Amino acid sequence: MKTSIPRRRADFITDRRVTAANDLTAPIGPSASARGRLAMIDTQDLLGGPQASGGDVLDCVVVGGGPAGLTAGMYLRRFHRTVRVVDAGSSRARLITRSHNVAGFPDGVAGGHLLEKMKQHLRQVGGHLCYDTVEQIRIRDAGLFAVGLTHELLWARNLMLCTGVKDRLPELPGLDGVAAAGLLRHCPVCDAFEFTGKRIGVLGNSKHGVKEAAFLRHFSKDTWFVEIDGRLDDLSADIDLHRLRQLPGVARHVAVNHDRQAFVTLDDGSGHRFDVLYAALGVDPRTQLARSLGVVLDENGTIVTDAHGRTSVSNVYAAGDVVRALDQIAVALGHAAIAATAIHNHLSQVHAGGSRPAR
Ligand SMILES: Cc1cc2nc3c(=O)[nH]c(=O)nc-3n(C[C@H](O)[C@H](O)[C@H](O)COP(=O)(O)OP(=O)(O)OC[C@H]3O[C@@H](n4cnc5c(N)ncnc54)[C@H](O)[C@@H]3O)c2cc1C
Repeated sequence: MKTSIPRRRADFITDRRVTAANDLTAPIGPSASARGRLAMIDTQDLLGGPQASGGDVLDCVVVGGGPAGLTAGMYLRRFHRTVRVVDAGSSRARLITRSHNVAGFPDGVAGGHLLEKMKQHLRQVGGHLCYDTVEQIRIRDAGLFAVGLTHELLWARNLMLCTGVKDRLPELPGLDGVAAAGLLRHCPVCDAFEFTGKRIGVLGNSKHGVKEAAFLRHFSKDTWFVEIDGRLDDLSADIDLHRLRQLPGVARHVAVNHDRQAFVTLDDGSGHRFDVLYAALGVDPRTQLARSLGVVLDENGTIVTDAHGRTSVSNVYAAGDVVRALDQIAVALGHAAIAATAIHNHLSQVHAGGSRPAR
């Protein structure tokens, strides 16, 4: 479905600059470095610009090319919709050395491999993945979205936010080495099964960390809560409640020992070995764009959607980790399938004569 652009690309760039300077209710502006890059777009625009959006309005721009975004793009293409998936390249799935809970892969699958297969699938149905960052989105005339990438401007009728979350990491000397050895984990739902009966250390400083340790205790009674600096809550009652074991001090250093175990040194100088460490500090949802559009978030900062993946803002959908739900690949795929189908059905309703498959 094609419509010509209502206004020129240069107008958008100009509007963005004026808005940032004069309008306090404007969307959250780009970072200083992003502003530098936007200035670059301006210059290139005067010279004729980089890749244009082709003069078309896309049915959907998907922000984020992790499992959620790639699935959404593939579904929309299979509904014969025009779509662009834009990805800044920091999918959490890329950090998965080998996942053993993705259905259909009994021997496990590396996150990078899974993403490559999903990209291949998207390309096979004529989908476009573009490696860029969406800096800003504005709702313009006729309810269209002007989506400002670092190097390009896109126009779309619908948006799907699949921007994911970022794991919080403890600031602990030696942690990089432990992570490189594959001894630092982030997601007990994903891989606790692989550590059944092992000695597990859970690095935390809040009730969230204690809850995660309690979850892991189901897989191994030899699970220990390891406090790190910056304690946020009074933890003793929760630790007692869950009958957890706790190391007698605060972790100061971690390393990999000769037996390829994680070795934690406490502030009292004592050392403790673990088969694996879990970082249990929670995550930060990537919602800067959602907030700039006025999308409603929950108390954890994740996007609230209805059963069809619709956010509180018309024609803005969301899927994957950035939505309030279990942070899992299977969930991200499910969200994306539902939201993409909802977008297709909505477009079919709006533009009379389109087909409307059963849900
Ligand atoms: C170490 C680790 C191991 C895991 N193991 C498993 C496992 O075994 N099984 C399982 O089911 N799950 C696992 N997970 C969780 C799984 O990775 C996530 O649930 C999944 O990646 C979520 O997909 P997503 O598409 O929502 O987000 P992501 O995969 O995080 O993708 C989001 C994408 O959006 C992009 N983005 C964000 N903002 C912008 C922007 N403004 N412009 C352009 N692009 C943007 C990011 O760069 C990123 O590429 C693991 C996670 C980690 C960290």
